[in-house]
Amino acid sequence: MYPANGIHVLVLAHPVQGHINPVLQFSKRLASKGLKVTFLIPISTRKSLNLVNAGSIRVEYISDGFDNVEADKLITDEYLDHFRLSVSRSLSNFIQKHQCCKESPAKVLIFDSIDSWVLDVAMEHGMHGASFFTQSCVVSWIYYLVHHGTVKLPLKVVEGQGCVLSDPPLMSVLRLNDFPSFVADVHKYPAILKIVLGQFSNIQKAKWLLFNTFTELEYELVNWMGNQWSMMTVGPTIPSVYMDKRLEDDIDYGLSLFKPEAEACLRWLDSKPPRSTVYVSFGSLASLGEDQMAELASGLRSMKSHFLWVVRESEEKKLPSNFMQELGLDDGKKGLMVRWCDQLQVLSHGSVGCFMTHCGWNSTLEALSLGVPMVVMPQWSDQPTNATFIVEVWKVGLRVRANEQGVVIGEEIESCVNEIMDGEKGKEIRENSSRWKEIAKRAVGEGGCSDKNIQEFFSNIVDLCT
Ligand code: UDP
Repeated sequence: MYPANGIHVLVLAHPVQGHINPVLQFSKRLASKGLKVTFLIPISTRKSLNLVNAGSIRVEYISDGFDNVEADKLITDEYLDHFRLSVSRSLSNFIQKHQCCKESPAKVLIFDSIDSWVLDVAMEHGMHGASFFTQSCVVSWIYYLVHHGTVKLPLKVVEGQGCVLSDPPLMSVLRLNDFPSFVADVHKYPAILKIVLGQFSNIQKAKWLLFNTFTELEYELVNWMGNQWSMMTVGPTIPSVYMDKRLEDDIDYGLSLFKPEAEACLRWLDSKPPRSTVYVSFGSLASLGEDQMAELASGLRSMKSHFLWVVRESEEKKLPSNFMQELGLDDGKKGLMVRWCDQLQVLSHGSVGCFMTHCGWNSTLEALSLGVPMVVMPQWSDQPTNATFIVEVWKVGLRVRANEQGVVIGEEIESCVNEIMDGEKGKEIRENSSRWKEIAKRAVGEGGCSDKNIQEFFSNIVDLCT
């Protein structure tokens, strides 16, 4: 064990739930080894933030120039531009103040890879930077190739192959529509496209590149990328109680931008038989159309499984008008609808047999790590790519297909859920899910790949600071 006493690192989170969770969880691993961690989070999140359990980590707010930002505004061009300007300034002020105070000044700053400009701020103050990637290696590699100009936009289908990438060979599984939406449709979110490509603008200056994935999951690609960069896989960054159980009291993510209805979910799930329920959630940002909401409601109503459906407050207005009665939610027998839940608690509950998901990278890793088979319904961002890997490479899920209007109809949803719950293909998928669960646990358990990498990162910091 190294003498970590008094060694201090700063971590800057990007204020979106799917980015806060993995970075905070990784910070907890470092803190458990004796590092002092200050977790900086933009102040606009303060009103909505539920600080449940950040362990020994000190959470501090810094200005991003807004008092309060609703979750679905966090991805607008206006917010993102403003965020960069304001946070560059307030982060620089924070570091300056902090370097003058008596306690040991931090020499390392861990930041979200999508905020690549943070590295310049860190370096101006003589600090080393660690860029933390919250997306898969597959998705990172695609963005890198586009950034580098190896893959040109708009993407083109290669004659006779139907795909655009064949290096490494694993990538040839991707068809045009499986690429992250920001590169598949370059005109829709130009500001976000700039940000995701910008992740690679200064990687050679970052001392470490950390990825929330595990080597076994993306073996071929991790080796491929590892030959070109100094990278470390450190995932899945899931609270220890669900994985290796070595971190005391690490029972949840700890910081939530939404208030989970945890007790109501648990009580309801406890009343259901084993593997009888489908859990439905589209994460913190995705937004479904009204037609799609109606079809989803209809599919859930007709299937024989019970369902627990997360509909965020901002999505509620799209529900069919008499949905409560129609869905039989009044008596709680058939289903339960909540605005937010503790997803890990739900996924690890014995009565859940299937996860209908948008395939956010955290949700994907969580389902894989807890052994829950998936029905995938990707919406945007990296989700189509994750969905393809879930179905075709890791073989732990089925994908619903949309009709010509781009809507997935109720019967299609019902049929995929039934297949996962009781079908022949479902059996194979359930077995694969159990296998991945064990592999994921081993990766973060003592001596696993991610465990060794976290230890190496920690030792590097200690060597730098002593
Ligand atoms: N989550 C949760 N409760 C919910 C829905 C989601 O705790 O009701 C968590 C989930 O466990 C995951 C994160 O929110 O860690 C969502 O991240 P993801 O990458 O899956 O999707 P995003 O929200 O970024 O689209």
